[in-house]
Amino acid sequence: MDSYTIRVFGDPVLRKIAEDVKSIDGDLVSTCQRMLDAMYQAPGIGLAAPQVGISKRFFVYDYGNGPQVLINPVIQESDGEWEFEEGCLSVPGLSWNIIRPKTILITGYDLDGNDIAIEADELESRLYQHEMDHLDGKLLLEYLDNEQKLEAKKILRKRIMDEEQSPIAGLSGFSSDS
Ligand code: ZN
Repeated sequence: MDSYTIRVFGDPVLRKIAEDVKSIDGDLVSTCQRMLDAMYQAPGIGLAAPQVGISKRFFVYDYGNGPQVLINPVIQESDGEWEFEEGCLSVPGLSWNIIRPKTILITGYDLDGNDIAIEADELESRLYQHEMDHLDGKLLLEYLDNEQKLEAKKILRKRIMDEEQSPIAGLSGFSSDS
C-alpha cells in the first residue's frame, strides 16, 4: 500500500475543523499505518489526519517511544509559556519562533479504544499542541505578526506558482532566504 502524500499550504482541507472519530475500526488502523509511513518518510515526529486529506480528529506521532496514535484528543489543561522554533510538514522549509503554553494535559483514545491521558512538557507538549491546531484548521501562519505573515505568504505563493510551472522540479532547490 502506498503511503499518503502530505497536503501543503493552499489545500483547503488544512483550514477545515475536523470531525470527531465515531468508531475505531480496521479502516482507522490501516489509515494510521499509512499516515505513520508518510510521517517517517517525510521525516517528521507528528502528522494529523487533515494533513493527508482526512478531516477527522486524530493524529499519529513518534516522540521517541515508537509509533503512537491519539484519537479525539482534548487539551484539558495548559500552563506556562515556552518559545521554540517550530516548523510544519504542510508548510515545508519554513520555521518560526512561536510561543505556546509550556505544559499541557491532553486526553484521548488509542487504537484499542483505551482512555489516554498524557502530561507533557516543552517539545512533547508542543508536538501535541501543533497537531491539535491541525484538527482545528489552524496553521503556524496564524501565530505570525503581519509582517512575518506577508513574507511567508509571498514565499509560499511563489512556490506554488513555481510548482505549477515545473511539476518535475517540485519544491527542491528552493531556498527559504531568497
Ligand atoms: Zn504541522
